[in-house]
Amino acid sequence: MIITKKKDIKAILASLEGKKTVYLFGCNSCAEQCATGGEKELKEMTAILEENGIKVVGASLPEETCYRQLVLKDYRNKPEFREAEAVLVLACGAGVRTVADSVEETQPVFPALDSFFLATVERVGRFFEGCSLCGECVLDATGGICPHTECPKGLLNGPCGGVAHGKCEVNIECDCAWVRIYNRLEKQGRLDALKKITAPKDHSVGIRPRKVLLRESARSADRKDKK
Ligand code: SF4
Ligand code: SF4
Repeated sequence: MIITKKKDIKAILASLEGKKTVYLFGCNSCAEQCATGGEKELKEMTAILEENGIKVVGASLPEETCYRQLVLKDYRNKPEFREAEAVLVLACGAGVRTVADSVEETQPVFPALDSFFLATVERVGRFFEGCSLCGECVLDATGGICPHTECPKGLLNGPCGGVAHGKCEVNIECDCAWVRIYNRLEKQGRLDALKKITAPKDHSVGIRPRKVLLRESARSADRKDKK
């Protein structure tokens, strides 16, 4: 799940300066769970914008705003969406980007949220970061704990010299990721895994933007886009 936080309303109003009509997009998936872009937040944003003289001409709440076909469906069927002077998206950056790619390029699309990280959902409303999507997973050798993400220095061969009493020197509220890795591998009888030096990451696998084309139809659309 992607974790988002609300932008300061002053920054949102500044981005919408001069606009009289706005269409809103929420997201009924991650942003809804983060309480940043569900039905309630769309209503709250509508009230704020209208108090500030901006008319909200409509709103969409797709199951996933990062799914372009869902956004395009509303774009085709809702003239108020096409005709709004601007679109404000209460979703992660992928959602904003998807909406921006679905509308005419003359129609500005603005983010209402900041996107933070890919989260593991421990329970409703309790999220933590466990993977940075590096493209070269090493969890097999680290007992399922990601040093790239959970060690602030991203050390692939740890711990560093700063660990004290099992705590991280950078973030003293947290246990050192490498101490946790050691303890877990010990319980699994796999401490030998720590004797291997992990080679530096091949950052070429993480060159952005990345894409995946799973089906022939996707590959064919990609070829057409490149022409
Ligand atoms: S090594 Fe860490 S950041 Fe990379 S894919 Fe695995 S969990 Fe994600
Ligand atoms: S103390 Fe542990 S988690 Fe913190 S930076 Fe050093 S190795 Fe990484």
